[in-house]
Amino acid sequence: MNIDNKITGKTKIIGIIGNPIEHSFSPQLHNSISEHLGVDLVYIPFKVEKKELESAVKGLKALNLIGFNVTLPYKRDIMKYIDDNTKEALLMGAVNTVKNIDGRLYGYNTDAEGFSKSFKEEMGTNFKDKKIVIIGAGGVARAIAVKIAIEGAKKICVINRTLSKANDISEIINNNITSISEAYGLDDKKGITAFNSSDIIINTTSIGMHPDKLKCPLDDSFEFQSGQIVYDTIYNPLKTKFLGKAEKKSCKIANGMGMLFYQGIYAYEIWTGIKLTDEMIKDSYKSFITILSNK
Ligand code: NAP
Repeated sequence: MNIDNKITGKTKIIGIIGNPIEHSFSPQLHNSISEHLGVDLVYIPFKVEKKELESAVKGLKALNLIGFNVTLPYKRDIMKYIDDNTKEALLMGAVNTVKNIDGRLYGYNTDAEGFSKSFKEEMGTNFKDKKIVIIGAGGVARAIAVKIAIEGAKKICVINRTLSKANDISEIINNNITSISEAYGLDDKKGITAFNSSDIIINTTSIGMHPDKLKCPLDDSFEFQSGQIVYDTIYNPLKTKFLGKAEKKSCKIANGMGMLFYQGIYAYEIWTGIKLTDEMIKDSYKSFITILSNK
């Protein structure tokens, strides 16, 4: 690695905390954006043990970082150390981006924003008045469910192995946004009916992710219908078995790569106050893809 004399006493620092952290693409994404824009900023990964989370946050603040990302497993736990979480982040129950302004920490969720942006860009449509099925009920499912409810979905059906977790997400939507959500277990026929008549299907489970590429979150009782829009939040592999099945039935498909990219772009804008132009975003996407193909 050659960092020449680029880091000086004036260089601003951003971090990412998580555990594990070695697999993260974020340092390369953010450092390449800064380099491209000529912004004097460096982005550094920090592996943090669970028992050290509070001290790590205090340390990042004491060292005057301008902000940091938070990744698994701390997106929920971090919230208690943040001074102001956005209303959306509170409903989503997760923060992945923190900005430090004069020692006060502000928490945001850019995962859901990144999902929404990439979905609209790749699918050429939005969530307004759509019947949507979400498979899974973890952290990503909750953030996406809240986002698409805010953005005008007509119906949101959450299907998950553990029914109580799907119920929790539906209740959050019905009690705080609008009463449009239902929850089902994987073997409930009503879930299959909702699946068949939905406009959009989103997989938020980790099933089918590398190295378990042959696995699919749903069995064959769930059949894709031609014309449905199908999004998988997994980006490794680029085409999961789930997306392959949907493609065979002439569904429009997209993977989670755009979500990963745009959550980073939104975080960068929050920290730096720089609004990236379409041209800058296009260039950053090109270097992002180059980084990934060299991994
Ligand atoms: P999480 O909170 O751990 O939730 C995992 C979900 O997967 C739960 O609904 C869980 O069901 C389900 N699941 C896991 N193993 C299962 C199995 N063997 N059978 C049935 N269901 C199973 O994880 P998360 O934070 O929401 O992340 C989920 C996925 O989103 C990740 O794996 C990743 O692929 C993707 N992701 C993408 C991006 C991006 O930028 N594209 C960012 C973050 C995450 P139970 O509730 O029954 O346990």
